[in-house]
Amino acid sequence: MTDQTPQTQRIVLASGNAGKLKEFRSLLADVGFDVIPQSELNVSDAEETGLSFVENAILKARHACRATGLPALADDSGLEVDALMGKPGIYSSRFAGEEGDQKDSANNQKLLNSLQGLAQHERSARFQCVLVYMRHAEDPTPVICQGSWEGQILHKISGQGGFGYDPLFYVAEHDCSAAELSKADKNAISHRGKAMQQLLERLT
Ligand code: IMP
Repeated sequence: MTDQTPQTQRIVLASGNAGKLKEFRSLLADVGFDVIPQSELNVSDAEETGLSFVENAILKARHACRATGLPALADDSGLEVDALMGKPGIYSSRFAGEEGDQKDSANNQKLLNSLQGLAQHERSARFQCVLVYMRHAEDPTPVICQGSWEGQILHKISGQGGFGYDPLFYVAEHDCSAAELSKADKNAISHRGKAMQQLLERLT
């Protein structure tokens, strides 16, 4: 008798973020992938020395492939503000230089200060998310998915949900900040939601 059980493919997630692990796990479980966080396989964080989201995502995925011998998935995301020539960009999480609990509010305050005096129409911005899937460390054609989400930076924070710059990111479609959206509404239109949808299509 032949075994009809579909094979599960183990892949390593090049991130230590518990929220992301949960999202990727549930997205990819139905299509036969078992997502394992790199911390469980004793993989250290890669050095993010790239100058773009895609470079950093590739560096992270390749590092995890090399360390484990497994296919790897990595992401890199951030906020691009037009009036700041695309900043904070790849430096979004460390824009104000802080780490830890106060990081998000320090970043938001720095963003508000940087845009002081600019009218609403001069405050256009977008979130970007790049996902990279590499079959092995020397994979010459990584799967690269990119999602973006257009918005504007508000004059003051609004809303309690989400994380990062969500309280300052105005979403015209819902006439509120990203921090005032439900998780499901945010996932349906966000940069990360769009990139994940593409990934699902590319891996099936
Ligand atoms: P990472 O790629 O998850 O490390 O995200 C980099 C940084 O970009 C985060 O620390 C946030 O400051 C910002 N960021 C990325 N995605 C979002 C989002 O959906 N909402 C708010 N901030 C975000």
